[in-house]
Amino acid sequence: MPFMRELDLLRQEVEQCKRCDLYKARTNVVFGDGNPEAKIMLVGEAPGYYEDKKGLPFVGSAGKLLDTLLGEIGFDRRDVYIANVLKCRPPNNRDPNIDEIERCSPYLFAQISYISPKIIITLGNHSTRLLAETDTGITKVHGKIFKKGDKIIMPTFHPAACLYHPEWLKLLREDLAKIPFLLSD
Ligand code: SF4
Repeated sequence: MPFMRELDLLRQEVEQCKRCDLYKARTNVVFGDGNPEAKIMLVGEAPGYYEDKKGLPFVGSAGKLLDTLLGEIGFDRRDVYIANVLKCRPPNNRDPNIDEIERCSPYLFAQISYISPKIIITLGNHSTRLLAETDTGITKVHGKIFKKGDKIIMPTFHPAACLYHPEWLKLLREDLAKIPFLLSD
């Protein structure tokens, strides 16, 4: 597998990371999970309560919703790689701040370069701002296609936000349904 060793070394480095203060309260670093050779990568915001406890991304109710939606288009976690902008949980699930994103995002960029997905789905505003390089809010930019080098980036809603907004859930489902077509392009 290409870059497996590099990805493993990066994981070991991140597990020791103290680049920002979020290391102080973490139970576990949430590096990322899934198929390191995936053509589809999903990038969320930061670990929540259950992710911090288990050290895995998207394991709470938002994760279950994501699994369901991926299943509807014929995928499961073995077909994708899932990571977050931040690898440690912000207190009380507050938004990541600029300093934390600056310090942590080199890890995400390294993951992307080792995994080399064809498509990156950014879930929510923070990963969209970072990877699609747009300040347009997710309600306006979701479902649009950005080309960055050889990568396709499609922003969509964060599943956690959709748990309480059925109208956004419908849009998230429609956006994710584009993935098979983007893959076959
Ligand atoms: S959030 Fe990122 S930069 Fe901050 S301590 Fe965790 S791994 Fe390091």
